[in-house]
Amino acid sequence: MSMQSINPATGLTKQTFPVLQTVDIPPILESIVSAQTQWSALDFNQRAVFFQNLAQVFRQSREKYANVITEEMGKLLKEARVEIEKCALGCEYYAKHAGTFLVDEQIASDASSSYVAYQPLGVIFCIMPWNFPFWQLIRAAAPAMMAGNAIVLKHASNVPRCALALEEAFCDAGFPANTFRSLLVTAAQAETIIANEHVAAVTLTGSTSAGRKVATVAGQHLKKCVLELGGSDPFIVLDDADITFATEQAITARFQNMGQSCIAAKRFIIVGAIADQFVAQFKSLVNQLRFGNPKDETTGIAPMARVDLRDDLHAQVEQSISMGATLIEGGSFIGKQGAYYAPTILDHVKPGMPAFDEELFGPVAAMVRVENVDEAIALANRTQFGLGASIWTGNANRGEAVARKIHAGSTFVNGIVKSDPRLPFGGIKHSGFGRELSYHGIREFVNVKSVWIK
Ligand code: NAP
Repeated sequence: MSMQSINPATGLTKQTFPVLQTVDIPPILESIVSAQTQWSALDFNQRAVFFQNLAQVFRQSREKYANVITEEMGKLLKEARVEIEKCALGCEYYAKHAGTFLVDEQIASDASSSYVAYQPLGVIFCIMPWNFPFWQLIRAAAPAMMAGNAIVLKHASNVPRCALALEEAFCDAGFPANTFRSLLVTAAQAETIIANEHVAAVTLTGSTSAGRKVATVAGQHLKKCVLELGGSDPFIVLDDADITFATEQAITARFQNMGQSCIAAKRFIIVGAIADQFVAQFKSLVNQLRFGNPKDETTGIAPMARVDLRDDLHAQVEQSISMGATLIEGGSFIGKQGAYYAPTILDHVKPGMPAFDEELFGPVAAMVRVENVDEAIALANRTQFGLGASIWTGNANRGEAVARKIHAGSTFVNGIVKSDPRLPFGGIKHSGFGRELSYHGIREFVNVKSVWIK
């Protein structure tokens, strides 16, 4: 068994890696357990030094890592650079705040002294996706490790170079051996890792179907899990919105990372008579994007990460059109090689169509026209997902009132949904459960222990 690193811009295989033998996994997990015992004995300030070092490594090697990302999953090099910068910030954030987030919490009771101590669980298994191959891992690993846990990573099979580069970065930052390990294993092998006695808990960022399987295995073995899954975020444009601003933001919200973001805006729900203008302005901005080499600074359209994902997206587009959606733009492959898909606009999208009911994980915008705000809220909530949502309006109070009625883990008014270390991130319904980031995220993989002393 092997894993290929295929450049999605060219379709060429750059490198092939052997998959780890299943018999070799248990001894590695044992060595991570003993490393974790020593790691957890360090205090927060000592652990913080390693994460400050890691932030430095990311900044110093930004070009190297950004190039690996672009060559392996296709995103624009300028976006890959931003991702590496964000990793540095995430490391620094938890280096600075973990000790405060997990300080003993005194609680008055019938004891002479009683308090809550937040203690690490042990080895946390991170199963990660390819779309933000560095950031997704750091977002999970920095808080978990600052809390005193060790990490074993199973990255997506199409990003083995990123997986190994991450282990190299931890190594270069001087982390003690075996506190962070990246294993090239398959999804089937991941199930045996979850089951292994040395693994305390699991966190998955990925699709809803993978979430269901991982939660099943974790449940069988009574292991805590956090699931960060798919989304179909509504981008609700109220009739008093600044259309020019909203369309500019809509382009970024839909097409950054070639639309392959869990919190990308996927359903554009437009209220009232502004719909024609919104769609026309959106189309004219789409027409300005040019496709090309993702390393070229002027390229706006990168390839998708894999040909099979591009083909799946195309099938969703075709089926939606066959059910009555109007193709305004795109809807086809572009380029002679690689996994490119033309930025696509579907208008008059309705419930029942894949473009409404399913996640469109690529550069396809679904326009949904509604009569009034109540209908917009009802349709925004008419989804199996509940990750993020944004509301665009000239009246922030009105936007806030709508935001509070949306069933999602995050709601933004006049801003694009984004992850920020200071704010909790996660979903409800089929978008998963548990939270990452902020002090909520660092408390997912700790033993919230009550200590009572007479
Ligand atoms: P995916 O196919 O579900 O894969 C994600 C990870 O899960 C990969 O490492 C994959 O390994 C692994 N996996 C798949 N099935 C598994 C199983 N039965 N047991 C154990 N591991 C399994 O998702 P993707 O295509 O990489 O990523 C796109 C999805 O992730 C989208 O739905 C997106 O919305 C979601 N996502 C969510 C968030 C969030 O924060 N909520 C963030 C980013 C992405 P293999 O590659 O070896 O199959």
